[in-house]
Amino acid sequence: MKVLEDQWLSDAKRLKYPAGPEMKIRRFGIAHFTAGAAALSSYNFWLSGEARGAEAHVIIDRDGTVYQIRPFNQRCDHAGTSTWSDPKTGRVFTALNSCTIGVEFANAGDSARADGTAFTRFKLPAGVIQARHKNGGPVKSWECYPEPQILAGIAVFKAITARYNLDDLVGHEDIAPKRKVDPGPAFPMTRIRLACGFPASI
Ligand SMILES: [Zn+2]
Repeated sequence: MKVLEDQWLSDAKRLKYPAGPEMKIRRFGIAHFTAGAAALSSYNFWLSGEARGAEAHVIIDRDGTVYQIRPFNQRCDHAGTSTWSDPKTGRVFTALNSCTIGVEFANAGDSARADGTAFTRFKLPAGVIQARHKNGGPVKSWECYPEPQILAGIAVFKAITARYNLDDLVGHEDIAPKRKVDPGPAFPMTRIRLACGFPASI
């Protein structure tokens, strides 16, 4: 996996989607979950004209299939109100849609049930864990991320970190801790950060 000259991933399925505003800098990678059953739930909403879902540059399905909706020199609307301090420069960034790459993982998040299902009898392939979110709240069931999806996530984050010399890799829950819980306690953030050359902890 690598980023090609045209700023698309070499091994992503390119989805038809409208172009976005130009994004001139890229400093951080942001991980999300879809909070859905289908990987392309928000994309399918857009296709059907019903609503516009959250946009992330990249969507990774549970089986490891990688989709991309825009090249990395165009903004996506995935971060919302958000703040992050660049660990390498100390510069504080806000409104992170303007300088981040969003990577969304198909995952039910805390919509998972203790019996390993979510939504309408949807069986979660890697099961669930019981955990309390680091930002607070009660112990809940969270969908675990299947290994093929994690390996694809590592490949994607390694590729974008190398291509854009990113300064950090964090979750939506880190840049908007009062509003967001994704990608949640089941996400292997430490493993992915280490694979990309970042310190283990955020
Ligand atoms: Zn998110």
